[in-house]
Amino acid sequence: MNNTPNEMRRDPVTGKWVIIDRDMEPDEVVSLLRASVARDAERIKPGPCVFCPGEEKNTPAPIVEYVDGQFHYGTHFENWQVRVIPNRHPVFRIEGNLNRRPVSMYDVMDAVGAHEIIVENRQHLDWDELKRSEVIDILRVYQERMKDLSKDERFGHLFIFKNCGPSSSSRLQHPHSTSFASPSVPERIRRELEFTRRHYQLKERCLFCDIVSEELRRKNHHSGIVKSYDSFITISPFFASHPFETWILPRNHSSDYRTMPGEHLTQLAQALQENLQMVKSMVGSLSYTLLLFTRPNKFWGADRDYWSTIDVDYHWHFKFFPRFPRETGFHRSFSAGSGYMINQVPPETAAEMLRSQGNRPKSKAE
Ligand SMILES: [Zn+2]
Ligand SMILES: [Zn+2]
Repeated sequence: MNNTPNEMRRDPVTGKWVIIDRDMEPDEVVSLLRASVARDAERIKPGPCVFCPGEEKNTPAPIVEYVDGQFHYGTHFENWQVRVIPNRHPVFRIEGNLNRRPVSMYDVMDAVGAHEIIVENRQHLDWDELKRSEVIDILRVYQERMKDLSKDERFGHLFIFKNCGPSSSSRLQHPHSTSFASPSVPERIRRELEFTRRHYQLKERCLFCDIVSEELRRKNHHSGIVKSYDSFITISPFFASHPFETWILPRNHSSDYRTMPGEHLTQLAQALQENLQMVKSMVGSLSYTLLLFTRPNKFWGADRDYWSTIDVDYHWHFKFFPRFPRETGFHRSFSAGSGYMINQVPPETAAEMLRSQGNRPKSKAE
């Protein structure tokens, strides 16, 4: 039992309060994660799945396949490296118009958008087990899908996430990401945009750049910095809402993942792989979620002046967090009912623990 009182920290990007719960020692949280990893391992079925090579006829026709550095739209190649297919049960459908309309006092529109599965590679290997070049290929496909879908002004926002492992709600075992184009800017993103714009209006600085500066300022004292690279930085931010949550951000301000220069891909892949290696060397092959946040589609709502400062006030980033299985009871009902998140590992402690893993010699992904 830790006698230090719990603390509430406000997330400046969403305005939400996070409770830093010090009841458990960080090592106890690591033990819980390790136990969930062991349970997950029992749920993983061996052998090929519907997304494996040779099973393509059992999936919808590809939107695009990535082969030897080229994107091939609407054509199937036996030797595909990354494959993008429509989801069989899409939340959003690509056909039609938004058809915005009132129904009595309510706002209604058709669920027009895109819902795609990015089959990341030909084997059941996670990013830390892939070659650097294979992770770069996936990151390229992320850029390509976002660029392509952004041409459609019906789509307000593009987002990509990756759920990995049985505790991440992923029903599919094959490594994959999900790409969405939504017909409006989702509430969570809209909230982020409002807070970041307000910060810019007040200070004429990007909020995310300020968060990175603050973590760098505390460099030798409870810093959330996990690892620094020339062009990227991995941090566990002061207000992180999950144990061992990390963010990977470009060090130089940039609002749009789509415009990231190709020469940055290698280092981004390295940062993402090393982030996974650090967490996994501590708890094992865990379930996790990786989210890519970037600015909304500039063609959507352009005539409504929504985005006059978006290029200077928003900052694209990846957010990573481990997934705990339901049975560990991490105050889900409390969070659902109150909106408060509970983090049982202070982010500065998480950063320190991850850094110590990163200092161990290993170079699997080199
Ligand atoms: Zn498979
Ligand atoms: Zn910035």
